Amino acid sequence: MHQISSVAFIGLGVMGYPMAGHLARAGLDIRVYNRTATKAKAWVEKFGGSHHSTPAEAAQGTDLVLVCVGNDDDVRQVTVGEHGTLSSMTEGSLLVDHTTASADLAEQLDVACRERGIGFIDAPVSGGQQGAENGVLTIMCGGDQAHYVRVEPVLGHYARAVSLMGPAGSGQLTKMVNQICIAGLVQGLAEGLHFAEQAGLDPQRVVDVISKGAAGSWQMENRHKTMIADEYEHGFAVDWMRKDLGICLEQARRLQARLPVTALVDQFYGDVQVMGGGRWDTSSLLRRLRARTDN
Ligand code: NAP
Repeated sequence: MHQISSVAFIGLGVMGYPMAGHLARAGLDIRVYNRTATKAKAWVEKFGGSHHSTPAEAAQGTDLVLVCVGNDDDVRQVTVGEHGTLSSMTEGSLLVDHTTASADLAEQLDVACRERGIGFIDAPVSGGQQGAENGVLTIMCGGDQAHYVRVEPVLGHYARAVSLMGPAGSGQLTKMVNQICIAGLVQGLAEGLHFAEQAGLDPQRVVDVISKGAAGSWQMENRHKTMIADEYEHGFAVDWMRKDLGICLEQARRLQARLPVTALVDQFYGDVQVMGGGRWDTSSLLRRLRARTDN
């Protein structure tokens, strides 16, 4: 089994652009595709490599294809769709999907890849734009061990932690757990800060004290300042979170897992979208509380 040297990266968005950049800096030969071609051209000007007009063309002759697009349908388009990567990938090569998508899609792609002698790994990421830019993402993988050991060193160029969680789909299921944990936590943080304000406390001083105790969290540490300042033009967009929670709630329905708080917070994010906050950071749940008197 030869070492991976030629890589295609499909989807140069907020996450994909810096992720692919880390691979170029590591000396890999990168072929990129982006639906909006100007972004692919800008990437090549900055990092070298080559840009291509279809996913199939970018994937041609590579050892590994990495995908980071929006949702299930987008992944289907760039992989199994017309001019998708699977039409040009060859036996023995590997496909890794970094998109946050459903576990069902991962299982379907695994089957489609197996039929062609291609290895598949679902590999959603956590850590946001900052994590991608600094190369310190957490990556949760699903697939065969033999494929995983081949791709793990490559993913290590933009990750601090990479783990194989089980067969295809397990990475996506793990990412769902991540999003379920975050949803309730961010609402709790928003309610805490809202309560502090209503009580006439200085919210910054409250956080200074309680963040050192059992209430501390990544969200509290990294988001309290902007929440207090009512600034949300950054971070992880509410529209993306609703996509993710939709995936979680559908999966939970089928697993008969009960997610009452997650379902409620999903509705709260729906309110934020109605307020025009689809692109605001997920911590904007506080703006919703400040804006309303009923709940
Ligand atoms: P983004 O900035 O909106 O970028 C999405 C990328 O996918 C763009 O390159 C876009 O191309 C491409 N794309 C979308 N639909 C496509 C289609 N049908 N065909 C071809 N290309 C398509 O999104 P992102 O923030 O990078 O997120 C990417 C994935 O990572 C999502 O699944 C998201 O949930 C997940 N994620 C994001 C974060 C975060 O903090 N941003 C954190 C963890 C996970 P164009 O340039 O042409 O639009």
